[in-house]
Amino acid sequence: VQGYEGQKVAVLGLGRSGLATAAALRAGGAEPLCWDDSPEGRARAEEAGFACHDLTKPGAFEGVAALITSPGIPHLYPTPNKAIAAAMAAGVPVDNDIGLFFRSWASPEWDDFDTMPRVVAVTGSNGKSTTTALIHHILQSVGRPTQMAGNIGRGVLDIDPACDGEVVVLELSSYQTELARALTPDIAVFTNLSPDHLDRHGGLGGYFAAKRRLFSEGGPDRAVIGVDEPEGAFLANQIATAPEDDRLIRVSVSRKLGDWGWSVFARKGFLSEWRKGRQVASIDLRDVTGLPGAHNHQNACAAYAATRALGLAPRQIEAAFQSFAGLPHRSQTIAEKGGVRYVNDSKATNVDSAAKALDAFRNIRWIAGGLGKEGGVGALKEHLAHVRKAYFIGHSARDFALELGVEHEICETMERAVELAAAEAEAGDTVLLAPAAASFDQYPNFEKRGAHFIELVEALAG
Ligand code: ADP
Repeated sequence: VQGYEGQKVAVLGLGRSGLATAAALRAGGAEPLCWDDSPEGRARAEEAGFACHDLTKPGAFEGVAALITSPGIPHLYPTPNKAIAAAMAAGVPVDNDIGLFFRSWASPEWDDFDTMPRVVAVTGSNGKSTTTALIHHILQSVGRPTQMAGNIGRGVLDIDPACDGEVVVLELSSYQTELARALTPDIAVFTNLSPDHLDRHGGLGGYFAAKRRLFSEGGPDRAVIGVDEPEGAFLANQIATAPEDDRLIRVSVSRKLGDWGWSVFARKGFLSEWRKGRQVASIDLRDVTGLPGAHNHQNACAAYAATRALGLAPRQIEAAFQSFAGLPHRSQTIAEKGGVRYVNDSKATNVDSAAKALDAFRNIRWIAGGLGKEGGVGALKEHLAHVRKAYFIGHSARDFALELGVEHEICETMERAVELAAAEAEAGDTVLLAPAAASFDQYPNFEKRGAHFIELVEALAG
């Protein structure tokens, strides 16, 4: 990391990204002052050779150039963390690893425009990971050097120095974009917007503002924007000023966009690219097994648009779609037993993503419930047409049953739900785990919940 040589920089939160931040600062000649509210975090830092300094003590920020915080730490809502409040009071800039990354990346070293590495950043409410992984996969499949990082497993400061022509694909959550002081991707992708994590951002306006920052700081060279919600349409409207303005590629899965500018949309299972009023390409997505359902067609359109903006040809992208295996826990077909398909969409932790899964399959035996989110699940009523029966689990089981009025069984546990759904399923049915709730009442995270579902399904008699 550049820009802090010889200076003290405070690092708050000592999980994986915090430790990577401390190491990157030290490598750049800065002196990291580490702190974590938990003793375990501090022990991790000391084990890694970093001294801890209590950042909540009076005067802790004297002579400190910046505070770098971890994504898990709320900086404003519901209340600012004590150390963050102290930094703000002392006039010390608060930033995160994403801001540090862009600060270093934008250094004058990268002055050769043709060969310099590119950064693609993906944000939005749903489909970020799938879109990020798909862009990465498409680039890999044409042999273009690429690395993937951000919210998707590897910290941005953990990546290897990029080589000429390399593309770094970043998944950025709203927690990350709202705080980063520098955000200058070459291509920025906005998938869609649905109300999620609202408590943390102080309402939908704040949440949208956090995502939108990616498009406002000087602006990316190219923006790929899902325009099916008013917020996306508004963002697109702010970027493109004329039909021939090719900084913007609009994406839709609800309507044909062809008559204006550059667009990619999917209808009835076909992806189309249009430019200046003409169709450029068309791809049949109906049999692409790694991308089932309209929601994945949206991800396919966004990844297509981003890789087109990087100069790939439509046929290259089409071939890469076929070899995309999909991501675990997202509309993932895990088994076919006795003509019954089992699909793990444990990542469907909110109403919107569960609705997408419910729309993507037929004859559904639906396993749902967990720790319900603010706002309830009433909006799912319109997506129950293909549900034969629901099997509710977890803390929210009874609330879901009351709110949805669908034929159901209260199962409490995943064991019971899988057992019952499998026993009642007939050939042609799909047993779908799409919880529309967080997992924390029964599991440490959605991955563990999905893994448990897979384990139970694998144990079923074939
Ligand atoms: P994110 O990284 O934004 O959470 P994922 O790709 O991990 O997105 O998908 C999260 C959940 O949303 C999964 O349940 C998935 O099936 C569903 N999903 C994926 N893409 C979309 C989309 N474009 N719109 C709505 N839901 C989606």
